[in-house]
Amino acid sequence: MTTFDSLLADIAPDTGESREISNPATGEVVGRAPVHTVDDLDAAVATARAAQPGWAALGHAKRSELMLAAADAIDASAEALAQLLTREQGKPLNGPNARFEVGGASAWLRAAASTPLEAETVIDDGESHAVLHYRPIGVVGAIGPWNWPMMISVWQFAPALRMGNTVVVKPSEYTPLSVLALVSVINSVLPEGVLQVVTGDREVGARLSSHPDIDKVMFTGSTATGKAIIRSSADTVKRLTLELGGNDAGLVLPDVDPAAIAQDLFWGAFINTGQTCAAMKRLYVHDSVYDAVVDELAAVAASMPMGVGTDENNVLGPLQNKAQFDIVARLVESAKASGARVVMGGNPDAEQPGYFYPTTLVADIDNDNDLVQHEQFGPALPIIRYSDVDEAVAMANGLDVGLGASVWSGDRDAARDVAARIEAGTVWINSHGGVHPMIPFGGVKQSGYGLEFGVEGLKALGVPQVING
Ligand code: NAD
Repeated sequence: MTTFDSLLADIAPDTGESREISNPATGEVVGRAPVHTVDDLDAAVATARAAQPGWAALGHAKRSELMLAAADAIDASAEALAQLLTREQGKPLNGPNARFEVGGASAWLRAAASTPLEAETVIDDGESHAVLHYRPIGVVGAIGPWNWPMMISVWQFAPALRMGNTVVVKPSEYTPLSVLALVSVINSVLPEGVLQVVTGDREVGARLSSHPDIDKVMFTGSTATGKAIIRSSADTVKRLTLELGGNDAGLVLPDVDPAAIAQDLFWGAFINTGQTCAAMKRLYVHDSVYDAVVDELAAVAASMPMGVGTDENNVLGPLQNKAQFDIVARLVESAKASGARVVMGGNPDAEQPGYFYPTTLVADIDNDNDLVQHEQFGPALPIIRYSDVDEAVAMANGLDVGLGASVWSGDRDAARDVAARIEAGTVWINSHGGVHPMIPFGGVKQSGYGLEFGVEGLKALGVPQVING
């Protein structure tokens, strides 16, 4: 049986440089991760290149079969993987956190393996005959963030593998162990060289995105890094899928029942302790229900325990790293300095070990405050009052990012009309942030381009070829 200790032993660095990884909730050492070099990356890319034709030649049916067996292997090691994820990333085992993420990793792998993708006959009218196929691209580089390290890696590499590409994954330097362990479990099933992990810092990511033998980069992370990747991939004209930062708005219309929506509002904003790309990061509430929504949300928030992830009571955890803690603290301080009302939180305990920032709600805040304008990526939600829906839509659309958004209303049709006016890749009605392996997901504006999941997600990992005649 796979245990937490046996997983760590499987991924223990042998030779070369390595680095200690600590639990962000306690400071305790979790394990050591290799710090790979650019030369290691080059070697991995060469291996991936050599393995690619054989993997492609297996065909969809055989690749799907292997991927489904890999998903079974994840399920068989699920608890050990969740224990490691909790210790490295900080998110609790319980709630929509570590066990949920491991389950998602397996579910997305299964979906990518099982989704049919047929060649499309574009025209067949007796005179013309053209069929659109999706061929393997070659070697795909997958660069990921630290917030949902296992699940987002699967989002990147599962469709790539299914389409006949081989993959080199470069996880975040903050959460390498989670990805190494997940891939080690999957590689108990896959042929050698098809899926590899190269851990390392930004230089390794930068080399991956300019590497002459990488054909496509799947990137999930900040908008700033996404722009750097666009630049460094230009000379080789790589295909890119970019899932970048967001600052999602929620719009609460006047006809809601505040008590009925409070729990979903809470999780829409605070899932993974706010460290989620498509979490609600600014909440616009109509004046007529403003006080009731703030009160109900505060009551729900007060009932959600935050603490060390291995304690089954907790459903909220620490920030994953000090840099992110500092961003959240700075943005909340800017809100306080502006005279906004701190309904709860905003007062981290300097004596407490770990990067814990308390659940924070800030009301009566101006839309131009930094806590509204910048992505906090943590457990601090600004709640802005509005009196006119057009004004709320304008504020929602006022930023240069557009990943997700939500509209909350008792009238679904009215909510859909408002949703259609919002500039975001997904607009949820009466929920926020839920993803599904068959529903395409991606951002607009500077939240990136390209779609993941479902048939669209498979197409993005293939190169289109028309056979005309
Ligand atoms: P980040 O951009 O700092 O790092 C992401 C990855 O890029 C890391 O692996 C890092 O090593 C690598 N990297 C850094 N510099 C690089 C370079 N020059 N070239 C290539 N790779 C480089 O992001 P993060 O802090 O890990 O993640 C948080 C951000 O990610 C937030 O803005 C969040 O909104 C966003 N995010 C978006 C989605 C989405 O689906 N749109 C999902 C999760 C997170």
